[in-house]
Amino acid sequence: MEKQHSIAEALRTALGSDAVLSDPADRWTYGYDNSRAQAMPLAVALPSDTAGVRRVVQVCRRFRAPLTVRGRGTGTTGAAVPDEDGVVLSMERMAAVLSVDAANRVAVVQPGVTNGALQAAAGAAGFFWPPDPGSAEYCTVGGNLACNAAGPRALKYGTPRDNTLGIEAVTGEGRIIRAGCYTTKGVVGLDLTRLLIGSEGTLAVITEATLKLTPLPEAITTVRAAYTDMHTAAAAVSRIMSQPVVPRVLEFLDSAALALLRARDAGDLPAGAGALLMIEADGLAEQLPAAVNALQRAAAGDGLLEWRAAADPAEAASLWAARKALSPALRSLAPKKINEDVVVPVSRIPELTDGLATLAEKHCVRIVSFGHAGNGNLHVNVLGEEADLERMQACVDEVFRLVLALQGTLSGEHGIGRSKRAFVGLEIDAPTLALMWRLKDVFDPDGILNPGKALPDRPAGG
Ligand SMILES: Cc1cc2nc3c(=O)[nH]c(=O)nc-3n(C[C@H](O)[C@H](O)[C@H](O)COP(=O)(O)OP(=O)(O)OC[C@H]3O[C@@H](n4cnc5c(N)ncnc54)[C@H](O)[C@@H]3O)c2cc1C
Repeated sequence: MEKQHSIAEALRTALGSDAVLSDPADRWTYGYDNSRAQAMPLAVALPSDTAGVRRVVQVCRRFRAPLTVRGRGTGTTGAAVPDEDGVVLSMERMAAVLSVDAANRVAVVQPGVTNGALQAAAGAAGFFWPPDPGSAEYCTVGGNLACNAAGPRALKYGTPRDNTLGIEAVTGEGRIIRAGCYTTKGVVGLDLTRLLIGSEGTLAVITEATLKLTPLPEAITTVRAAYTDMHTAAAAVSRIMSQPVVPRVLEFLDSAALALLRARDAGDLPAGAGALLMIEADGLAEQLPAAVNALQRAAAGDGLLEWRAAADPAEAASLWAARKALSPALRSLAPKKINEDVVVPVSRIPELTDGLATLAEKHCVRIVSFGHAGNGNLHVNVLGEEADLERMQACVDEVFRLVLALQGTLSGEHGIGRSKRAFVGLEIDAPTLALMWRLKDVFDPDGILNPGKALPDRPAGG
């Protein structure tokens, strides 16, 4: 109680009393994320500029208080859930688009801006920022950078790591650093921009970002390709990815997902379909038909039941309806859901889906998979009742081992947070993890920035 009072007072001195929340009802609402974990922080700080962020870090350093940065708490891994004896630094008052520079294809933003607000500002100038998480209207660019969060368009346009030119940040020591540059080429110094992206608020607080914009495409064609089964759909994904036209989006739904949608009467699904691909191509209007033809030739083959290209935006929306109905349908299917976002090389998707079916049977759980097939990034949803949790966890453990055996990686875009820390050592070897811990110590010598997230426990003596 005393510590809580002293920290709140120190933060008020640093920021002003209207920028600190200490009432329990206020603090509670800053303590959760979409993992559904929740903890009560000691105080919530709402700085308005980089100097304010620095002062918050200095206060936390003085009190050795854990500091968790918060965008909008839409992350799925507990990465934004604070420590009970720590401070939440919310970015909500640093939410401006500072500039959109069409000639140089650059936007400069504060980290608390939502992805949707950035897209609106860039769109007005004829551009977009490629990362497009489903949560775009709510999540912040700072959160996107901290998790390297992406979405369907990453297939053609890349993730935040590919679309960020520079970052300003405050380290755990309270130093303001500027990494990267304003230009699309640059090789001066070490690449701290890419290091900070994906670091989940454990190395520094991002206070400004210089983002690479892409011109909006002139035209988009949406296609639904239905296949008899996962194997033939997965083979089509490999054929599509081994020819020159890169789709803007290449998403897939497995047979369990389709069964769920049929049971809910959602979307008009083709009879007999056991797997679905959603494909989009974009570009100049006059070149698009040739691109779509190339994709159709690659998609054709064993098991293709339907190739339906939308004639207009209304039909495109109706083709997407099934995919969009999936997440809400999943929520109503079982009270407990563990959602992983594993990645395997595209050619190994069939081995992954076969393996998932075997594991579902072995552990007596239900698995529904869908996701970004063009990147080999599958959202694997392990579903069950409260009483099944132990078996669900055992199943997830084996899913991770299977993914690594297939040359994959544990997370494509959701990150590690608290929920997957224990598995990181399966993927990253001990010397590499030890180096990561040394880097953490350089950025954050007192270990105040988001402790217990992203990295597994520090090795003994490390
Ligand atoms: C309905 C829904 C759909 C989603 N769809 C997708 C999807 O398609 N693709 C995808 O990748 N993710 C998706 N997500 C997950 C989530 O939206 C993303 O991870 C998003 O980037 C989190 O942003 P946020 O602002 O909510 O960050 P938070 O959840 O608040 O924080 C996430 C992490 O970022 C850190 N952080 C936030 N801001 C900063 C900063 N300025 N400096 C340093 N660290 C910071 C936090 O400390 C934490 O570690 C979805 C979530 C929901 C609820």
